[in-house]
Amino acid sequence: MPQANNKEKRETRGRQPEKPSVNNLQNPKGMRDILPEEWSVLDKIMNTARALSEFYGFSRIETPVLEYADLFSRGVGLGTDIVEKEMYVLTTKGGDKLALRPEYTAPVMRSYIQQGMSHLPQPRRLWYIGPVFRHENPQAMRYRQFTQFGMEVLGNSDPIFDAEIIIAAYRLFEELKIKNVTIEVNSIGCKTCQPAYRKKLADYYRKLDICEDCKIRIDQNPLRLLDCKNEKCQPYKQGAPVILDNLCQNCRSHFRQVLEYLDEAKIPYVLNPRLVRGLDYYSRTVFETFAEGESSALASGGRYDYLAEMIGGRSTPAVGVAAGIERIAEIMKSRGIAVQQKTKEKVFIIHVGDMSKKKSLSLIEEFRKSGVPVLSEPSKESLSAQMELAAKNNAPLALIFGQKESYEDNVIIRDMESGVQEVVPITKVVEEVKKRLR
Ligand SMILES: [Zn+2]
Ligand SMILES: [Zn+2]
Repeated sequence: MPQANNKEKRETRGRQPEKPSVNNLQNPKGMRDILPEEWSVLDKIMNTARALSEFYGFSRIETPVLEYADLFSRGVGLGTDIVEKEMYVLTTKGGDKLALRPEYTAPVMRSYIQQGMSHLPQPRRLWYIGPVFRHENPQAMRYRQFTQFGMEVLGNSDPIFDAEIIIAAYRLFEELKIKNVTIEVNSIGCKTCQPAYRKKLADYYRKLDICEDCKIRIDQNPLRLLDCKNEKCQPYKQGAPVILDNLCQNCRSHFRQVLEYLDEAKIPYVLNPRLVRGLDYYSRTVFETFAEGESSALASGGRYDYLAEMIGGRSTPAVGVAAGIERIAEIMKSRGIAVQQKTKEKVFIIHVGDMSKKKSLSLIEEFRKSGVPVLSEPSKESLSAQMELAAKNNAPLALIFGQKESYEDNVIIRDMESGVQEVVPITKVVEEVKKRLR
């Protein structure tokens, strides 16, 4: 390593040595470390999500964390909070404008188009799990980096896939034992019927004393008027024209079928005619899933038949759902939903003296190759300290590898419950342990 040091010295010569900054020892605001003790819940959620996806025939996809920023401005939509306020955008040395993905749907559709997945049998069912980034004001449990799980069905417009996605989302929470989950559903129409409705909505709101944001929404995307969180605009929602009364024949029939499938699957849904979802790419079915007493959605999604065209591909009907893993973990924690920790019983290997400490390394390998889980603690030297650890870890057996034993190539097998000990040759020890564990 001296070379590296010299180089470092050369590079820093002539500069003031930098003072160690406290900030260098802190993670960025709104981001966080996920510590070992948090993983049992997160793993439970992730494993459940994976098993469910696989059961319903979804294949995993992963896309780069960075995409061209343009993908999101075209797909998710300019004027949406995600694109305007929350996206991390950077310019590369080559001048490319890239964004840390704020969501997965646009990247998954980009990949579907780019990789020619439309040439494969349709629909394609894809699921994903990974980090997304949104530069939001960090509120409780709203991280700027969080893990999103989602499922997408691409390449088919049949309403049964809308239902399939909603059912899968519901089953996820059922599997995780999150009770009293409701699903709010709505249809926001299509290219045929939505424009007239948008105009009606804009006409209605234009006459009212609305907030500044809504004044912009009137022209940019009047559907989002219904999404306004400002106190001032709340009373107007009640009297606003309802989209369900304004759907075209095809959208009405599509939505009716979605609901029939949900009835068939006994999914408890609620019609919410004011549910619109914030992103530009949605059409027809939209939905949000809520845990009882919670105002922010656990999972949400909908149909996005126009996204492919919006980002420059051929028309591709699709529907999907996304859910934040940390958010689900928080709900489980607040409801006291326990996650059973599956700890494998491990045989404890005890060394006494340097030679046996050294030799125990190859002994551990023998066990690993035979698929027997073992544990040892090289930092402890005394027999009693290691025996204590073995008991604390509920080891069924302890293997005592003392000085005498390591010279004679023997190991003492101690039954931790009965205290009975037996000396066995090291060449036989794996076999003997296996026999006893059975
Ligand atoms: Zn329509
Ligand atoms: Zn408003």
